[in-house]
Amino acid sequence: MTSKFHNLEYPRHLNKPFLVVLTLWACLFSGLALADTSLARDSTLKIVRIDQDKSADSIAREYLQDKLEAWQIIELNGRASFKAGDIIALPLVPINPVAVYAHHYRSIPVLCYHRFSPRASAKHQMEVSAIAFDKQMAYLVDNGYQVIPFKKMAEILSGKTSIPPKAVVLTIDDGYRSVYDIAFPILKKYGLNATLFVYTDFIGGSAALSWQQIKDMKKSGFLDIESHTKTHSSLSYDTDKENIDSHKRRITGEIKKAEAAIHKHLGQAPSLLAYPYGDASPTTIDYLKTSSDYALAATVKRGANSAFADPLLIQRTMVYNSHSLSDFKKMLSHQQPK
Ligand SMILES: [Zn+2]
Repeated sequence: MTSKFHNLEYPRHLNKPFLVVLTLWACLFSGLALADTSLARDSTLKIVRIDQDKSADSIAREYLQDKLEAWQIIELNGRASFKAGDIIALPLVPINPVAVYAHHYRSIPVLCYHRFSPRASAKHQMEVSAIAFDKQMAYLVDNGYQVIPFKKMAEILSGKTSIPPKAVVLTIDDGYRSVYDIAFPILKKYGLNATLFVYTDFIGGSAALSWQQIKDMKKSGFLDIESHTKTHSSLSYDTDKENIDSHKRRITGEIKKAEAAIHKHLGQAPSLLAYPYGDASPTTIDYLKTSSDYALAATVKRGANSAFADPLLIQRTMVYNSHSLSDFKKMLSHQQPK
Protein backbone atom coordinates (compact mmCIF):
# COMPACT_ATOMS: atom_id res chain seq x y z
CA MET A 1 0.00 0.00 0.00
CA THR A 2 1.32 3.43 -0.88
CA SER A 3 1.86 5.77 2.05
CA LYS A 4 -0.82 8.39 2.32
CA PHE A 5 1.87 10.84 3.35
CA HIS A 6 4.18 10.46 0.38
CA ASN A 7 3.43 13.76 -1.28
CA LEU A 8 2.66 16.09 1.56
CA GLU A 9 3.84 19.61 1.03
CA TYR A 10 4.92 22.14 3.64
CA PRO A 11 3.15 25.44 3.98
CA ARG A 12 5.67 28.27 3.69
CA HIS A 13 5.11 29.45 7.25
CA LEU A 14 6.05 26.05 8.64
CA ASN A 15 9.58 25.79 7.28
CA LYS A 16 12.59 24.26 8.99
CA PRO A 17 13.72 27.37 10.95
CA PHE A 18 10.20 27.52 12.39
CA LEU A 19 10.47 23.93 13.57
CA VAL A 20 13.91 24.55 15.14
CA VAL A 21 12.54 27.58 17.05
CA LEU A 22 9.53 25.54 18.07
CA THR A 23 11.73 22.75 19.43
CA LEU A 24 13.99 25.17 21.33
CA TRP A 25 10.99 26.95 22.76
CA ALA A 26 9.51 23.65 23.86
CA CYS A 27 12.83 22.57 25.41
CA LEU A 28 12.80 25.64 27.65
CA PHE A 29 9.66 24.26 29.21
CA SER A 30 10.73 20.64 29.26
CA GLY A 31 11.93 20.78 32.89
CA LEU A 32 8.31 21.16 33.89
CA ALA A 33 7.27 18.14 31.88
CA LEU A 34 5.32 15.21 33.09
CA ALA A 35 4.83 12.30 30.69
CA ASP A 36 2.30 13.06 27.98
CA THR A 37 1.17 16.37 29.45
CA SER A 38 1.13 19.83 27.97
CA LEU A 39 4.49 21.65 28.26
CA ALA A 40 3.36 24.97 26.84
CA ARG A 41 0.57 26.45 24.80
CA ASP A 42 -0.65 29.62 23.20
CA SER A 43 -3.87 30.30 21.34
CA THR A 44 -2.77 28.32 18.27
CA LEU A 45 -0.45 25.54 19.45
CA LYS A 46 0.08 23.17 22.32
CA ILE A 47 3.44 21.52 23.00
CA VAL A 48 3.46 18.06 24.54
CA ARG A 49 6.00 15.35 25.28
CA ILE A 50 4.76 11.89 24.35
CA ASP A 51 5.44 8.97 26.68
CA GLN A 52 5.62 6.17 24.12
CA ASP A 53 6.27 5.61 20.41
CA LYS A 54 3.30 6.86 18.40
CA SER A 55 2.21 7.52 14.83
CA ALA A 56 0.66 10.79 13.68
CA ASP A 57 -2.60 8.85 13.23
CA SER A 58 -2.71 7.73 16.84
CA ILE A 59 -1.70 11.19 18.11
CA ALA A 60 -4.48 12.75 16.02
CA ARG A 61 -7.01 10.30 17.45
CA GLU A 62 -5.82 10.93 21.01
CA TYR A 63 -5.46 14.71 21.01
CA LEU A 64 -7.61 15.93 18.12
CA GLN A 65 -10.26 13.19 18.32
CA ASP A 66 -10.00 12.54 14.58
CA LYS A 67 -7.50 10.48 12.59
CA LEU A 68 -8.25 12.71 9.57
CA GLU A 69 -6.35 15.52 11.32
CA ALA A 70 -3.09 13.51 11.32
CA TRP A 71 -1.78 15.54 8.37
CA GLN A 72 -1.76 18.70 10.52
CA ILE A 73 0.55 16.99 13.03
CA ILE A 74 2.77 15.82 10.17
CA GLU A 75 2.96 19.30 8.61
CA LEU A 76 3.67 20.96 11.96
CA ASN A 77 6.33 18.50 13.06
CA GLY A 78 7.82 17.40 9.76
CA ARG A 79 7.29 13.65 10.20
CA ALA A 80 4.66 10.97 10.62
CA SER A 81 6.09 8.86 13.45
CA PHE A 82 7.46 9.79 16.84
CA LYS A 83 9.49 8.17 19.63
CA ALA A 84 8.80 8.11 23.36
CA GLY A 85 10.09 11.37 24.87
CA ASP A 86 9.70 13.39 21.66
CA ILE A 87 8.37 16.91 22.06
CA ILE A 88 5.68 17.63 19.51
CA ALA A 89 3.45 20.51 18.49
CA LEU A 90 -0.30 20.07 18.28
CA PRO A 91 -2.55 22.56 16.48
CA LEU A 92 -5.34 24.14 18.54
CA VAL A 93 -6.76 25.87 15.46
CA PRO A 94 -6.60 24.74 11.79
CA ILE A 95 -3.06 25.44 10.59
CA ASN A 96 -4.08 26.37 7.05
CA PRO A 97 -7.88 26.59 6.89
CA VAL A 98 -8.12 27.59 3.24
CA ALA A 99 -5.46 25.00 2.26
CA VAL A 100 -3.68 27.44 -0.07
CA TYR A 101 -0.03 26.60 -0.74
CA ALA A 102 2.74 28.26 -2.76
CA HIS A 103 1.64 26.92 -6.14
CA HIS A 104 -1.73 25.31 -5.59
CA TYR A 105 -4.71 24.97 -3.30
CA ARG A 106 -6.34 21.78 -2.13
CA SER A 107 -9.77 20.79 -3.29
CA ILE A 108 -12.23 17.99 -2.59
CA PRO A 109 -13.69 15.89 -5.39
CA VAL A 110 -17.23 14.74 -4.57
CA LEU A 111 -18.28 11.66 -6.56
CA CYS A 112 -21.91 10.92 -7.36
CA TYR A 113 -23.26 7.39 -7.92
CA HIS A 114 -26.83 6.20 -8.56
CA ARG A 115 -27.33 2.47 -9.11
CA PHE A 116 -25.18 -0.64 -8.98
CA SER A 117 -25.35 -3.85 -10.99
CA PRO A 118 -24.29 -7.41 -10.11
CA ARG A 119 -23.47 -8.00 -13.81
CA ALA A 120 -19.91 -7.47 -14.97
CA SER A 121 -21.05 -4.99 -17.58
CA ALA A 122 -23.85 -2.74 -16.43
CA LYS A 123 -26.54 -1.86 -18.97
CA HIS A 124 -27.81 1.50 -17.80
CA GLN A 125 -25.57 4.55 -18.02
CA MET A 126 -26.24 5.41 -14.36
CA GLU A 127 -25.45 1.87 -13.20
CA VAL A 128 -21.96 0.96 -12.01
CA SER A 129 -21.08 -2.74 -11.87
CA ALA A 130 -20.13 -4.34 -8.56
CA ILE A 131 -16.71 -5.19 -10.01
CA ALA A 132 -16.03 -1.63 -11.16
CA PHE A 133 -17.19 -0.15 -7.83
CA ASP A 134 -15.01 -2.60 -5.91
CA LYS A 135 -11.98 -1.65 -8.05
CA GLN A 136 -12.66 2.07 -7.55
CA MET A 137 -12.91 1.71 -3.75
CA ALA A 138 -9.77 -0.45 -3.69
CA TYR A 139 -7.96 2.23 -5.70
CA LEU A 140 -8.91 4.90 -3.14
CA VAL A 141 -7.69 2.81 -0.21
CA ASP A 142 -4.49 1.58 -1.89
CA ASN A 143 -3.48 5.06 -2.98
CA GLY A 144 -3.90 6.90 0.31
CA TYR A 145 -7.12 8.76 -0.48
CA GLN A 146 -9.01 9.84 2.61
CA VAL A 147 -12.74 9.35 2.14
CA ILE A 148 -14.37 11.94 4.36
CA PRO A 149 -18.07 12.24 5.20
CA PHE A 150 -19.84 14.87 3.09
CA LYS A 151 -20.90 16.49 6.40
CA LYS A 152 -17.25 17.19 7.18
CA MET A 153 -17.20 19.60 4.22
CA ALA A 154 -19.51 21.92 6.17
CA GLU A 155 -16.81 22.25 8.86
CA ILE A 156 -14.15 22.80 6.19
CA LEU A 157 -16.13 25.46 4.31
CA SER A 158 -16.88 27.33 7.54
CA GLY A 159 -13.16 27.38 8.47
CA LYS A 160 -13.51 25.14 11.54
CA THR A 161 -11.10 22.65 10.04
CA SER A 162 -9.01 22.34 6.89
CA ILE A 163 -9.02 20.01 3.91
CA PRO A 164 -6.99 16.87 4.62
CA PRO A 165 -4.64 15.80 1.82
CA LYS A 166 -6.19 13.55 -0.83
CA ALA A 167 -9.71 14.00 0.55
CA VAL A 168 -12.61 12.51 -1.43
CA VAL A 169 -16.36 12.41 -0.73
CA LEU A 170 -18.65 9.62 -1.94
CA THR A 171 -22.36 10.29 -2.52
CA ILE A 172 -25.15 8.10 -3.88
CA ASP A 173 -28.43 9.59 -5.15
CA ASP A 174 -32.07 8.47 -5.25
CA GLY A 175 -32.27 5.35 -3.04
CA TYR A 176 -32.14 2.31 -5.36
CA ARG A 177 -32.20 -1.14 -3.72
CA SER A 178 -28.82 -1.98 -5.26
CA VAL A 179 -27.23 0.46 -2.79
CA TYR A 180 -28.06 -2.05 -0.04
CA ASP A 181 -27.31 -5.18 -2.07
CA ILE A 182 -24.08 -4.10 -3.76
CA ALA A 183 -22.56 -0.80 -2.62
CA PHE A 184 -23.12 -1.25 1.13
CA PRO A 185 -21.13 -4.53 1.47
CA ILE A 186 -18.28 -3.07 -0.62
CA LEU A 187 -18.15 0.12 1.47
CA LYS A 188 -18.07 -2.03 4.63
CA LYS A 189 -15.33 -4.23 3.18
CA TYR A 190 -13.06 -1.21 2.65
CA GLY A 191 -14.21 0.73 5.74
CA LEU A 192 -15.38 3.68 3.63
CA ASN A 193 -18.32 6.00 4.22
CA ALA A 194 -20.79 7.52 1.77
CA THR A 195 -23.75 9.87 1.91
CA LEU A 196 -27.04 8.59 0.51
CA PHE A 197 -29.49 11.20 -0.79
CA VAL A 198 -33.00 9.72 -0.93
CA TYR A 199 -36.14 11.16 -2.47
CA THR A 200 -38.70 10.04 -0.02
CA ASP A 201 -41.64 9.21 -2.36
CA PHE A 202 -39.40 6.59 -4.01
CA ILE A 203 -38.56 4.67 -0.82
CA GLY A 204 -40.49 1.41 -0.41
CA GLY A 205 -41.11 1.08 -4.19
CA SER A 206 -40.20 -2.09 -6.09
CA ALA A 207 -36.79 -0.87 -7.33
CA ALA A 208 -36.08 1.15 -4.20
CA LEU A 209 -34.70 0.62 -0.72
CA SER A 210 -37.06 0.03 2.18
CA TRP A 211 -36.91 2.30 5.22
CA GLN A 212 -35.69 -0.73 7.22
CA GLN A 213 -32.71 -1.16 4.85
CA ILE A 214 -31.99 2.55 5.14
CA LYS A 215 -32.14 2.29 8.94
CA ASP A 216 -29.73 -0.65 8.89
CA MET A 217 -27.24 1.25 6.72
CA LYS A 218 -27.46 4.36 8.88
CA LYS A 219 -26.96 2.29 12.03
CA SER A 220 -23.83 0.70 10.54
CA GLY A 221 -22.18 4.14 10.41
CA PHE A 222 -21.05 3.60 6.80
CA LEU A 223 -23.90 5.62 5.29
CA ASP A 224 -25.26 9.01 6.23
CA ILE A 225 -28.87 9.51 5.04
CA GLU A 226 -29.78 12.92 3.64
CA SER A 227 -32.43 14.59 1.46
CA HIS A 228 -32.96 14.50 -2.29
CA THR A 229 -36.45 16.11 -1.87
CA LYS A 230 -39.87 14.46 -1.81
CA THR A 231 -40.75 13.74 -5.46
CA HIS A 232 -37.48 14.42 -7.34
CA SER A 233 -38.98 17.29 -9.35
CA SER A 234 -36.47 19.95 -10.38
CA LEU A 235 -35.99 22.83 -7.93
CA SER A 236 -35.40 25.21 -10.84
CA TYR A 237 -38.07 27.77 -11.76
CA ASP A 238 -40.57 26.39 -14.28
CA THR A 239 -41.73 29.61 -15.96
CA ASP A 240 -44.35 27.73 -18.06
CA LYS A 241 -46.18 26.25 -15.10
CA GLU A 242 -45.60 28.49 -12.11
CA ASN A 243 -45.27 32.03 -10.87
CA ILE A 244 -42.81 33.02 -8.19
CA ASP A 245 -45.28 32.39 -5.35
CA SER A 246 -46.32 28.94 -6.54
CA HIS A 247 -42.65 28.14 -7.22
CA LYS A 248 -41.75 29.07 -3.68
CA ARG A 249 -44.62 26.96 -2.29
CA ARG A 250 -43.57 23.99 -4.41
CA ILE A 251 -39.89 24.03 -3.51
CA THR A 252 -40.68 24.59 0.18
CA GLY A 253 -43.04 21.58 0.10
CA GLU A 254 -40.44 19.42 -1.67
CA ILE A 255 -37.83 20.21 0.96
CA LYS A 256 -39.99 20.24 4.10
CA LYS A 257 -42.05 17.11 3.32
CA ALA A 258 -38.88 15.11 2.63
CA GLU A 259 -37.47 16.36 5.92
CA ALA A 260 -40.60 15.23 7.77
CA ALA A 261 -40.49 11.75 6.18
CA ILE A 262 -36.79 11.27 6.98
CA HIS A 263 -37.35 12.48 10.53
CA LYS A 264 -40.35 10.17 10.96
CA HIS A 265 -38.46 7.06 9.84
CA LEU A 266 -34.96 7.77 11.11
CA GLY A 267 -35.60 10.10 14.05
CA GLN A 268 -33.25 12.72 12.64
CA ALA A 269 -33.82 15.55 10.18
CA PRO A 270 -31.45 15.88 7.21
CA SER A 271 -28.92 18.70 7.11
CA LEU A 272 -27.61 18.13 3.57
CA LEU A 273 -29.47 18.32 0.26
CA ALA A 274 -28.79 17.10 -3.26
CA TYR A 275 -30.77 19.05 -5.87
CA PRO A 276 -32.66 16.68 -8.22
CA TYR A 277 -30.92 16.93 -11.64
CA GLY A 278 -28.45 19.24 -9.87
CA ASP A 279 -30.70 22.23 -10.52
CA ALA A 280 -31.81 25.03 -8.19
CA SER A 281 -33.42 28.42 -8.75
CA PRO A 282 -32.17 31.54 -6.92
CA THR A 283 -35.41 31.30 -4.90
CA THR A 284 -34.45 27.79 -3.77
CA ILE A 285 -30.98 28.90 -2.74
CA ASP A 286 -32.40 31.93 -0.96
CA TYR A 287 -34.86 29.69 0.90
CA LEU A 288 -32.03 27.38 2.00
CA LYS A 289 -29.92 30.35 3.14
CA THR A 290 -32.61 32.19 5.06
CA SER A 291 -35.23 29.67 6.21
CA SER A 292 -33.52 26.33 6.68
CA ASP A 293 -30.68 24.63 8.53
CA TYR A 294 -29.09 22.94 5.52
CA ALA A 295 -25.31 23.14 5.79
CA LEU A 296 -24.56 22.01 2.23
CA ALA A 297 -26.43 21.50 -1.03
CA ALA A 298 -25.00 19.63 -4.00
CA THR A 299 -25.27 20.13 -7.75
CA VAL A 300 -24.02 17.77 -10.45
CA LYS A 301 -21.70 20.33 -11.98
CA ARG A 302 -18.48 18.45 -12.60
CA GLY A 303 -15.42 19.51 -10.60
CA ALA A 304 -13.78 19.57 -7.18
CA ASN A 305 -14.43 22.05 -4.35
CA SER A 306 -11.97 24.38 -2.62
CA ALA A 307 -12.24 25.45 1.04
CA PHE A 308 -13.79 28.68 -0.26
CA ALA A 309 -16.50 27.01 -2.40
CA ASP A 310 -20.15 28.06 -2.04
CA PRO A 311 -21.69 25.54 0.42
CA LEU A 312 -25.03 25.64 -1.44
CA LEU A 313 -23.46 24.98 -4.85
CA ILE A 314 -21.16 22.04 -4.18
CA GLN A 315 -19.83 20.50 -7.39
CA ARG A 316 -20.05 16.76 -7.90
CA THR A 317 -18.74 14.46 -10.60
CA MET A 318 -21.03 11.68 -11.82
CA VAL A 319 -19.57 8.19 -12.13
CA TYR A 320 -21.09 6.26 -15.06
CA ASN A 321 -20.74 2.65 -16.17
CA SER A 322 -18.78 3.82 -19.21
CA HIS A 323 -15.97 5.19 -17.01
CA SER A 324 -12.80 3.12 -16.91
CA LEU A 325 -10.49 3.05 -13.89
CA SER A 326 -8.28 5.55 -15.67
CA ASP A 327 -11.30 7.91 -16.10
CA PHE A 328 -12.01 7.39 -12.39
CA LYS A 329 -8.45 8.42 -11.45
CA LYS A 330 -8.90 11.67 -13.37
CA MET A 331 -11.98 12.50 -11.26
CA LEU A 332 -9.82 12.50 -8.13
CA SER A 333 -7.97 15.74 -8.80
CA HIS A 334 -7.41 17.16 -5.32
CA GLN A 335 -5.05 20.05 -6.09
CA GLN A 336 -5.78 23.04 -8.28
CA PRO A 337 -2.97 25.22 -9.65
CA LYS A 338 -3.07 28.85 -8.48
ZN1 LIG B 1 -31.65 11.95 -8.40
